[in-house]
Amino acid sequence: MKSGAQSAAAAAPTTSATSMSSRPRSASLSAPRRSSAGKNDGGARVRVAVRLRPRNAEELVADADFPDGVELQPELKRLKLRKNNWDSETYQFDEVFPDTASQKRVYEVVAKPVVESVLDGYNGTVMAYGQTGTGKTYTLGKLGEEDCADRGIMVRALEDIMADTNPENDTVYVSYLQLYMESIQDLLAPERDNIPIAEDPKTGDVSVPGATLIQLKDYKSFIGLLQTGEANRVAANTKLNTESSRSHAVLLVYIKKHVKAKESSNENGSRNSRAPVIRRSKLLIVDLAGSERVDKSGSEGITLEEAKFINLSLTALGKCINALAENSPHVPTRDSKLTRLLRDSFGGSARTSLITTIGPSPRHRGETASTILFGQRAMKVENMLKLKEEFDYKSLCRRLEADLDKLIVENERHVKAVVDAEEELHDKLNQARSRVAEAEGKLASALGEMSLERSRYQKDTEELRRQALHHVNDIKSLEKKLEENAAGLNSQKEREIHAERIKHEEEITNLADNYKRQNLNLSEQLQIERTLRLQLEEELSALRSSSKQVPEQCVADQLTELKERLDKERLTRENLELELRMLQNKENYSTGSTEAIKNEEILNLKKKLDEESKQRKKREEEIRNLRYQLAQSNEDAEIKRIEKGGSGRSSFGSDSPLNLHRPNILRDTINGQRATIAKLFEQVGLQKILSLLESEDADVRVHAVKVVANLAAEEANQEKIVEAGGLKSLLVLLGNSEDETIRRVAAGAIANLAMNEKNQELIMGQGGITLLATTANEAEDPQTLRMVAGAIANLCGNETLQVKLRDEGGIKALLGMVRTRHPDVLAQVARGIANFAKCESRAVSQSGHRVGRSLLIEDGALPWIVANANNESSPIRRHIELALCHLAQHEVNARDLATGGALWELVRISRECSREDIRNLAQKTLNASSVFQAELRRLHVSY
Ligand code: ADP
Ligand code: MG
Repeated sequence: MKSGAQSAAAAAPTTSATSMSSRPRSASLSAPRRSSAGKNDGGARVRVAVRLRPRNAEELVADADFPDGVELQPELKRLKLRKNNWDSETYQFDEVFPDTASQKRVYEVVAKPVVESVLDGYNGTVMAYGQTGTGKTYTLGKLGEEDCADRGIMVRALEDIMADTNPENDTVYVSYLQLYMESIQDLLAPERDNIPIAEDPKTGDVSVPGATLIQLKDYKSFIGLLQTGEANRVAANTKLNTESSRSHAVLLVYIKKHVKAKESSNENGSRNSRAPVIRRSKLLIVDLAGSERVDKSGSEGITLEEAKFINLSLTALGKCINALAENSPHVPTRDSKLTRLLRDSFGGSARTSLITTIGPSPRHRGETASTILFGQRAMKVENMLKLKEEFDYKSLCRRLEADLDKLIVENERHVKAVVDAEEELHDKLNQARSRVAEAEGKLASALGEMSLERSRYQKDTEELRRQALHHVNDIKSLEKKLEENAAGLNSQKEREIHAERIKHEEEITNLADNYKRQNLNLSEQLQIERTLRLQLEEELSALRSSSKQVPEQCVADQLTELKERLDKERLTRENLELELRMLQNKENYSTGSTEAIKNEEILNLKKKLDEESKQRKKREEEIRNLRYQLAQSNEDAEIKRIEKGGSGRSSFGSDSPLNLHRPNILRDTINGQRATIAKLFEQVGLQKILSLLESEDADVRVHAVKVVANLAAEEANQEKIVEAGGLKSLLVLLGNSEDETIRRVAAGAIANLAMNEKNQELIMGQGGITLLATTANEAEDPQTLRMVAGAIANLCGNETLQVKLRDEGGIKALLGMVRTRHPDVLAQVARGIANFAKCESRAVSQSGHRVGRSLLIEDGALPWIVANANNESSPIRRHIELALCHLAQHEVNARDLATGGALWELVRISRECSREDIRNLAQKTLNASSVFQAELRRLHVSY
């Protein structure tokens, strides 16, 4: 082996020089540190550096005159080995350290790349080779306790390793061994000797299981370990009686590093974050025994056999490196324990740096050359780096177990929850079922109740239907009864109708009576008018010479016409009466006839009555007109009498032209009705008829008073009636009766009786004026008031009764009746006033009794006289005009007339009155009165 090494060194002195120079990185012996992760990182040549030790004290003296045996060209990483003074050989290395090179730079260039590679998961080896005393231990094992700059590779490597590992996850174990004469000793436990080497048959990994493994917790503990190891090495060598330079020291550092998941990868290159990865790498720092041959020393006293044994490991290493350098198919790794320990470092999977140490002394030129050649051969050794990475299945398993446990726990909880939920659901289902069953039960009972209820309702319905049938029957029977009742009611109705009919008959009778009376009146009037006409004719013939303008012929014509009309009237009345009788006869036989026919007949009758009433009114109006025309003739005569200053009683007597009856009317004009009453009168007797006036039966009283009124219209009867107490009875009726008809008819009868002068005194004597005044104040019916006013007006025409009449309220009663405003009533009032004024005037002019002013003025009649002097109704106007003229006849009244506004009315009459005679009378009167003249003068009215 020695010769092989030498020959090898000589054979290739510069072989690697050129190849090494092409490397890009000069600062490091290693290839780029961070190679890609993978099982094999490819080839990595063993890096070799040379370090020259400075001359020591001995050499400085002994070799003072000699230059160093080597010449370094560090910048070229070359070393020149002097052969002699003129010749040298140049060798290229990965690095060349001069004697001035610092420990730090040597570490960084030689060892640091390997340390970093180990920390990345590769095995690594840093080994020092060289002659004893050249500085191997200095370079590797210097502790630097005195000067930190002296710290060797071991200390610095551990510093870096400890700095780069995490004490919580990663582990760093150290063994420190010594190999001497093929025996491994544990430097940390010196008693352990001859420790065997173990090899993994599968992987071929070499281990020393018997060696002490100390886990490093911190850097300081490592220093202690090195110190212990160094001390033990010295002690062991002393014990063996050898120098430490004869043994190999091997520091084994085991690193287990956990790689972060994201940095790991599986074989397929895909990420596997679930499997943790650990890297188990190993760093060997080997301080080899001196490379000089043992036998060379010769002073140690060892046998040749011993010497062979001491050199065995180093010789075997040389052989292996040679084999590797020459790519020999056989590398005798197993020849020594050292080569077995370094099996992975040379030709294996580790990154390996070799530092060769040489001394400067030219005296050791042979040893230096041998070291250089060893280095040169080592540079040819190619290693195949392999990442020492594995999945942490145990950890993964633990984690998975933990996960599994967690899942089991969760699963158990879930199962429990599911079971609970199922039980709850089951309970709820049971509850729901029971509720459904309950509800079904309720439903069934409700249905039962409903069916019961329905049958009850059906029963009720049947009952109601039966009752309804009963009701229908009842209704039918009621209807029957109703029909029967209706039949009864019809007869009742008929009775009512009969009563009604009787009533109608009575009314008709009344109406007929009225007509009869009116006809009678008309006849009487006609008689009166005839008489008047005759009288007028007489007077006219007497006055003909002086009165040129009296329309005698005109009056005569009118009277003729009037007579004709009256005849016509009478004819009509007779027809009516005939019709009435026919109707009465019809009604007598119509009890069986229908209600409709009765009604129709009644309606027809009413219609006819209405027509008759209209006709009657029309006739009355005509008669009124004729009366006024007659009155005018009468007045003409009167005016003439006044003008003549005549004092004699006129042929007209006290009666006004408006008297209803004339006492001298004879019964030759009495119609059939009157004849009937006369017959009644004869047969029944006046006394009997008058007694009926006091009958309890109101109807009887009504009929009786009507009969009496009719009788009273006859002058012949008037005296008889009064003598028989009829006047008294009539006055009682007038005063006591509530019945308006009775009062009206009674008043009419009294008025008739009042036409008779003798009767007038009797009426007054029996308090008639008081009763008439009372009726005048109380009655509202205009016809009643007309009768009352007519009666009083008749009484007013009696000169002898004037004072009494006035004292008993006759004038005031007369004036009170103007409240009705009915023209018929007003006309009677005006007639009464005119009568009264005329009588006053006559009394004064005849006897000169009365000297005081008019009783009319005394009783306040003047304002009404003045107000109505120009009344639009001609009958009223004429009466008032005449009354004013009569009043104005006496000077005693003049003052009142002048102040009361009557003067102006007289002036108006004297100017405007359509009747010339009245106009002249008024004129005369005004001229005769000095009072009037003075007043007119005072007011500058020219007259
Ligand atoms: P070896 O282990 O190779 O037998 P050592 O490391 O024991 O050699 O060194 C021998 C002596 O040389 C020691 O006293 C050491 O201090 C010294 N020495 C070695 N190398 C150097 C250096 N580079 N600088 C200074 N002194 C050194
Ligand atoms: Mg040493």
